Amino acid sequence: MSVPHLVIAGVGAKAVVAPLARPVKTAVGAIPAAPLVLIEVTTRQGITGKAYIFAYIAPALKALHRIVSDVGAELVGMTVAPQDVMRHFERRFRLIGWQGLVGMAVSGIDMALWDVLGRAAGLPVAQLLGGTVRPLDAYDSYGVIDPTHDADVLAASVASGFKAIKIKCGDGDLTRDIAAVRGVREIIGPDVRLMVDFNQALDVPEAIRRIRRLTEFDLHWIEEPVKAEDLDGHARVRAATGAMIQTGENWWFTASMAAAISIGASDHAMPDLMKIGGVTGWLSAAGLAQTAGLPVSSHIFAEASAHVMSTTPTAHLVEWLDLAGAVLAEPLQVVDGQITPRGPGLGLDWDEKAVARFAA
Ligand SMILES: [Mg+2]
Repeated sequence: MSVPHLVIAGVGAKAVVAPLARPVKTAVGAIPAAPLVLIEVTTRQGITGKAYIFAYIAPALKALHRIVSDVGAELVGMTVAPQDVMRHFERRFRLIGWQGLVGMAVSGIDMALWDVLGRAAGLPVAQLLGGTVRPLDAYDSYGVIDPTHDADVLAASVASGFKAIKIKCGDGDLTRDIAAVRGVREIIGPDVRLMVDFNQALDVPEAIRRIRRLTEFDLHWIEEPVKAEDLDGHARVRAATGAMIQTGENWWFTASMAAAISIGASDHAMPDLMKIGGVTGWLSAAGLAQTAGLPVSSHIFAEASAHVMSTTPTAHLVEWLDLAGAVLAEPLQVVDGQITPRGPGLGLDWDEKAVARFAA
């Protein structure tokens, strides 16, 4: 069988604000809807690769959209070879650096390139990378919750088969955190894993104080208790509390991850496909985590993450937080608390009517 030589014809981008079935409240701001850039890499051979990235806040959406378009325009005529393209990006963005919108755009284009390869081969990316398509354990990811008001949905998560649930804390004082964690623990029972995410809201002494008080609720991990870039602070919280610390969603490419590992900032690893360098960056991250013995969980982007988690040697949990379901032709299904990667490619196709309706 001859391998097709695929050449990039263009990179298209559309900005949408996708409504969320479950808007997310965090300690550092609310996400009422998801500002997304939908990326399409077209090829001269007629195969189109798709991926989406997340601007987090509405004012960043147009700029991210523009960067994807402008960076993409420079790729016309290049071969669809994500490793080669990433080496090109490393040179191209050396002067500006790629922390921020540039890195997000690069990562999104990388994901779409892998999608092209998967579609060309007629394979899910999970298989293209040497893995198998199989159900992966997922956790249901909540924002700040009110254990009384949200009791029914939390109970429904457990009833649907989730064996792990995460909530966000740190939006108020310790009393509020304790009430939330105690309330959720009572609803989900002792056998469902419970994780808490502080979204970088605390300083080191306050993180130590709160985590010591929350230990009695058997928390599976404590996520980003202090500022993401404060690697030493994470290490100090970890040493002082003995809690299992989770970080990684704000690691920019693997250099940042390597620094966190070398200082002992985390017990777990949570690379984010959009900040770690797409599928190509993830492959390096998975190797680093394997060498360091860190369990890897994914961060949002459940559809694409399920593919890379399939080949991650220390894969732990896929995060289920539905960002893009409103604009997908076939939203991902969680079955009995598990997510199975879909192909071909990354398995993403848009609901074009919804894309038009939610265009930004
Ligand atoms: Mg988080």
